Amino acid sequence: MKRRTFLKLSAFTASAAALGLGVSGCSKSTSKTEPVDEFPVYKGNPNNLVEATVDKKTGEVTPNENVMIRHSVCMSCYNNCGNRVKIDKTTNKVIGVTGNPFHPVCAEPALDYNNTVEESYKAFSLHNEQGLTNRATVCAVGNSGFEIIEDPLRITVPLKRAGERGSGKWRPISWEQLMEETVEGGQIFKELGDDTKIEGFRQVFDHENLINPDAPEMGPKSNGLIWLYGGSYGRREFTIRFVNGSFGSPNVYVHSGT
Ligand code: SF4
Repeated sequence: MKRRTFLKLSAFTASAAALGLGVSGCSKSTSKTEPVDEFPVYKGNPNNLVEATVDKKTGEVTPNENVMIRHSVCMSCYNNCGNRVKIDKTTNKVIGVTGNPFHPVCAEPALDYNNTVEESYKAFSLHNEQGLTNRATVCAVGNSGFEIIEDPLRITVPLKRAGERGSGKWRPISWEQLMEETVEGGQIFKELGDDTKIEGFRQVFDHENLINPDAPEMGPKSNGLIWLYGGSYGRREFTIRFVNGSFGSPNVYVHSGT
């Protein structure tokens, strides 16, 4: 049965179709309402490169010189499992992510840090059936999270609203323009016919004057900087240092989504 037929018969709603398209972020189709004929074929590791081969009988390890391995931590959700990232040295592209045998969250028992990377290869090989004991894994999301890097829908530049609020229209701007407008403020939507003057960080950075003299409990104008962020790791430290420490606003909030 073709997937298109399957999708129809499954009575997937438009949202399910959108989910299929979400999965197919690398496909040519950009429609969010129609099912795709076929899901895209994953081409991350076209040559099926492995980082090393391990002789099952002798345990001899032969690393692949064209592959670089980096042990890191998955940030595709909050569990922060250890991972092992495989990079094709000829293209500098990530071609796979698997489990980190040194990390206690995804290997039981985890390898001692004193083991070399080559020794770690044995840990998930069939030599002495170590792979059954030390095999390190990440979940499907962790395996595929690196596809975000090549996703054509990935946002890599600042986007500025280019239509009415809620119109979904955006245009790319330079980092310099982003900094200029967020720091200095002004009539930054004048090109849309909106003459409203919006205060920038420079105007809000005011510890002397109150936000509202009739409501002094709101504190100084600098409290007007409110920072909401998600995914706390790394951002949390930066945010607290910048918003609380440097700017002086206590209004930092985190939500629990990824
Ligand atoms: S491997 Fe899976 S469970 Fe672990 S952090 Fe990544 S997405 Fe979360």
